[in-house]
Amino acid sequence: MVEAAHEIRLLPDHVINQIAAGEVIERPASIVKELVENSLDAGARQVTVEVTGGGIDRIVVTDDGCGIESAQLPLAVTRHCTSKLIDADQLSDIATLGFRGEALASIAAVARMRVQSRPADQPHAMEITVNGGVAGQRLVPATLTPGTRIEINDLFFNAPPRRRFLKRPLTEYLHVEKVMKQMAFCHPQVRFTLINDDKPAFTLLPATDDKSLARRFNALFGKGVVHEARTLSVVAPDIAITGWVGTASAARSQNDVQFLAVNGRVVRDRLLSHAVRMAYGDAIPVGRHPCYALSLSVPGPLVDVNVHPTKAEVRFREPRQIHDAVLASCNRALQENVTPAAAQPVAEPRGGARYRFGRSIDANGMDAADIRLFDQRWLVELAGDGIRIRDAREIIRRQVMQSLWAVVADAGPVAMRPLLIPQPVRNKRLAGLVEPLAWRGFDFSQLGPGQLALRRVPVRMPTIDYKLFCSLLSQIDDVCEAEMDTVLADTIAAAWRPPDTPGGLRTLLGIAATLAPPVAVTELGADWPELLINDHG
Ligand code: ADP
Ligand code: MG
Repeated sequence: MVEAAHEIRLLPDHVINQIAAGEVIERPASIVKELVENSLDAGARQVTVEVTGGGIDRIVVTDDGCGIESAQLPLAVTRHCTSKLIDADQLSDIATLGFRGEALASIAAVARMRVQSRPADQPHAMEITVNGGVAGQRLVPATLTPGTRIEINDLFFNAPPRRRFLKRPLTEYLHVEKVMKQMAFCHPQVRFTLINDDKPAFTLLPATDDKSLARRFNALFGKGVVHEARTLSVVAPDIAITGWVGTASAARSQNDVQFLAVNGRVVRDRLLSHAVRMAYGDAIPVGRHPCYALSLSVPGPLVDVNVHPTKAEVRFREPRQIHDAVLASCNRALQENVTPAAAQPVAEPRGGARYRFGRSIDANGMDAADIRLFDQRWLVELAGDGIRIRDAREIIRRQVMQSLWAVVADAGPVAMRPLLIPQPVRNKRLAGLVEPLAWRGFDFSQLGPGQLALRRVPVRMPTIDYKLFCSLLSQIDDVCEAEMDTVLADTIAAAWRPPDTPGGLRTLLGIAATLAPPVAVTELGADWPELLINDHG
């Protein structure tokens, strides 16, 4: 945090060129985000946001931070002027939320802006106004307690086409509220107040201990959601993780309660959400979404925040380590009271032929070196006095998850091979997923509305009946990007063509041994009288 008012300077050209700049102002919520970030960078302990008409008509952000010196006010609203970053070297270790020096200028370009500010050592505040990028250069005195007050009126007044893209005030307000909640989650030590159309929406008191933190989480996410959650507080050498994960039973049909923050910055991150999702294993069915809010602290040099125009994405230097740390921490938190997926008994096979085990096993023609596959699914082998049963589909599913995960970690291109016969998929809901699927090595071409053809598949995949795979994909109801790996792995496991040779089955057992956590094994001793196995295989 910047604790004292620093000089604002124009960034040197070479630094400007290295900053992943872009259009940051899409809607009122993006303005609120930038302004609140500035307040936090200024060391504010209290931030108040007032919106009118969903923020389209008016946004006012007031803070008690370090303020901007009068002489610096014109620079503050000039593009690429910042007090936060001086050297390109510092781009690799950014401690502030802002650093590009363009938020105020970008906002001022598309609205009417009034900035009033007073550093603590200044006897009174000064203000500057900018309308649609045109500064009314004159500074005038204003009345304000130490800190900064920024007022934005008539968003996109000078850009009617963009104004038409805004949604109803209520929708825009909900976006503002979400941004506020994200900020409040990332910065528990700051008091946040949100006022909507003159009515207080919420005030969140600073959290100083576990109790007040829990109260804040309740206020932010709702008692119902947090009630059953496991809180997390993990400190490891290169990462600290705090927050909570909801239990599997609290999973929702929407992914609307998922917050991830890295170094005080809310991010969308495939790698992290993937890690959290995997921590639940099978406990959450496809189509349901876990609830969580996690805040990570990683040493600055190990994370690059300068990769996205709105800084909503980050890049980790050691993605695999971060992924595994999050997976392990969430997993541990969840296990504290939840039965781990791997410890649940294998579903009991039903119907079919009756086999006796124990001493009479030889009667079934199995000898010690034998492995058998029953019902295209259950891997059965002799083990000492009894037998060992493993779910072959589960092995395949985990193996696929693992290789999809490798794709996420490396983000490199996946080797693909063409299908001899492209397979049709009829599913309107998959149209938007063509790109993320291709990225995972499943290449579709669009045949028509809701009609796709699978043309290429990853080289490294188990033997799959792609015709069956595509017909299963056609039946999928709904899937979002975050669920993609799980859905693919489930579908592939269902369309997997099992090997029928002892060699193939042994390979499968070998794979099972490499999967962590180990694939569920059920051992039945000699005293087990009998087991029903459906033997179509
Ligand atoms: P950036 O945050 O990337 O530096 P901005 O355009 O958001 O760029 O802000 C420009 C400068 O204005 C900041 O570097 C900071 O010095 C000053 N500033 C903006 N908002 C505040 C605030 N609320 N309190 C103190 N200084 C501020
Ligand atoms: Mg900023």
